[in-house]
Amino acid sequence: ATVSDKPALTVHLCAPRGFCAGVDRAIQIVELALEKYGSPVYVRHEIVHNKFVVDSLKDKGAIFVEELEEIPSDDQDRPVIFSAHGVPKSVPEDARARNMFFLDATCPLVSKVHKEAQIHERRDREILLIGHTGHPEVIGTMGQLAEGTVTLIETEDDARNFIPKTDRQLAFITQTTLSVDDTAGIVEVLRQRFPDIVAPHKEDICYATTNRQEAVKAVAPLVEAMIVVGAPNSSNSQRLREVAERSGCRVSSLIQRASEINWSDFDKITTLGLTAGASAPETLVEEIIEAFRQRFDVTVELVRTANETISFNLPRELREYPSPTP
Ligand code: SF4
Repeated sequence: ATVSDKPALTVHLCAPRGFCAGVDRAIQIVELALEKYGSPVYVRHEIVHNKFVVDSLKDKGAIFVEELEEIPSDDQDRPVIFSAHGVPKSVPEDARARNMFFLDATCPLVSKVHKEAQIHERRDREILLIGHTGHPEVIGTMGQLAEGTVTLIETEDDARNFIPKTDRQLAFITQTTLSVDDTAGIVEVLRQRFPDIVAPHKEDICYATTNRQEAVKAVAPLVEAMIVVGAPNSSNSQRLREVAERSGCRVSSLIQRASEINWSDFDKITTLGLTAGASAPETLVEEIIEAFRQRFDVTVELVRTANETISFNLPRELREYPSPTP
């Protein structure tokens, strides 16, 4: 065997990483809709927060819009798909009013949070949502109820300063892609101040978010630097980058493609952690590893902290339809 003249690098690959069941389902919905109904198929908002995924669906005939009114009147009979992040109630109402045919790719775990919000309201509770302002999931969840009904809590400070608007019992729900640790801190403040606050039966932070953060925590102590493959507007990817940073990685970088690698950050390292957000396809992880192979003598070691077997049913309209990728 020849001895490599490249420096040795061990890549500790996090598992689980990348696509979750909700993202997988959302992408399948667009692909199957294109197969069944032909193109164009409209998608309201990035189906999942990943440019590579969005671009490849565009190539297949999907058209992405931010709002339903952007769909040209000639195309109002084309299917429209709502993204995995969920939508405010007003969106399907609007689609019905326009006689549009829509398919909902909202992740079932986001829909579950929507239902919790409705149950709390029915039980006459004042509702807090722990989440990040402006994220489409937060807009969708708050939009399940009348404007002003849900109070957004972003930080422990918000939890400390929160003043109930009513004397009703309090309840909280959360965004699905938050930092597990930050959320625990916020919940702790709320519980101290309002011991009777009603909490979700089981975490609103989803299994995929939790598992990906766990894997990063396991890998971080083994490595000098961590790369998270994901988009800057992907909440769960941002949280992975933070987890790596807080776990002591000197470099913790969120990148979308190999071309974005800032090589000076990875000069002289011998260990690298690698993971991907829930909306990042595995092919991009492979692309990054390949880029490192050009400069390093790479050994990949898998670090698995959980097995994921969960998968979600497709919407009824697409269930009987054969998969385009046999
Ligand atoms: Fe669903 Fe969690 Fe994936 Fe979001 S990250 S789509 S909530 S499984």
